[in-house]
Amino acid sequence: MIKLAIYGKGGIGKSTVTSNLSAAFAMRGKKVIQIGCDPKADSTGNLLAGKSLMPVMNYLREYDEDPTSLEEITARGFGNVLCIETGGPTPGLGCAGRGIISTFNLLDDLRLLEREKPDVVLFDVLGDVVCGGFAAPIREGYAEKVLIVTSGEKMALYAAGNINSAVLNFEDRGYASVEGIILNRRNVELEREKVETFARERGLRIVADIPRDRAFQTAEDQGRTIVELDPDGTIALKFFDLADRLLAEEAGGMMSGTDTPHGFGKLEDCGCPM
Ligand code: ADP
Ligand code: SF4
Ligand code: MG
Repeated sequence: MIKLAIYGKGGIGKSTVTSNLSAAFAMRGKKVIQIGCDPKADSTGNLLAGKSLMPVMNYLREYDEDPTSLEEITARGFGNVLCIETGGPTPGLGCAGRGIISTFNLLDDLRLLEREKPDVVLFDVLGDVVCGGFAAPIREGYAEKVLIVTSGEKMALYAAGNINSAVLNFEDRGYASVEGIILNRRNVELEREKVETFARERGLRIVADIPRDRAFQTAEDQGRTIVELDPDGTIALKFFDLADRLLAEEAGGMMSGTDTPHGFGKLEDCGCPM
């Protein structure tokens, strides 16, 4: 099973990249789960053609009790991808990071992995805040690999640096490691060079280079991915290429591939004194 977390600054293109990658895995015949871990709760929109999906935290607020089945908090999207959104707290009240932890424990209680038996699980995670809660997707057997999405912009690289440091902090406990950088272009000056320097200084590699293209907006307006709309185009091929390399690595045992068929591990609280 491939378990991958995609981190990056807000607005950098994490959900766009994650949903295109999910679609590419699905078109390769893989069983995919995509879990949006961002209070924006819009990770899976491009897989669901505009269908609304109740975020888990909204469900808990509205009904004041845990859902009893996965159907209440999931939806099937393009390529039969199982879509889940953690959502966020009421603005100004509560903590989104803690919400991620309780959502994951709930998914474990509902036996998500045993029931779905996925080939690929993708976590789409906000990376502006890298505290105990937002690090949940890289702890306790959740994601094993991290992809960091960045452009050549200063703030995107700053967030990427923080995410890399956070992953390194947890790595010695046998948690996730950084698989590489996805350059999602904003067309700033010397963009490739800037991101290459950033990657080299940290011993990382650029695993995909996605152009800035209006086709992403056109697809988003229809609630679809480019992979679905134009599977033979040059942009879709970049996502198929990345998906194929990840599958080949997994098959060759280069990714650790430790399956957890009996579920994820239980997550402790984030340890925040707040
Ligand atoms: P995030 O999930 O990181 O907050 P999104 O994936 O929602 O960011 O992307 C933010 C906006 O940028 C969306 O409107 C999306 O269509 C657009 N976008 C993302 N990547 C590209 C790209 N390579 N070219 C053009 N627009 C893009
Ligand atoms: Fe929330 Fe603090 Fe925990 Fe982060 S460390 S998840 S901000 S309570
Ligand atoms: Mg997003």
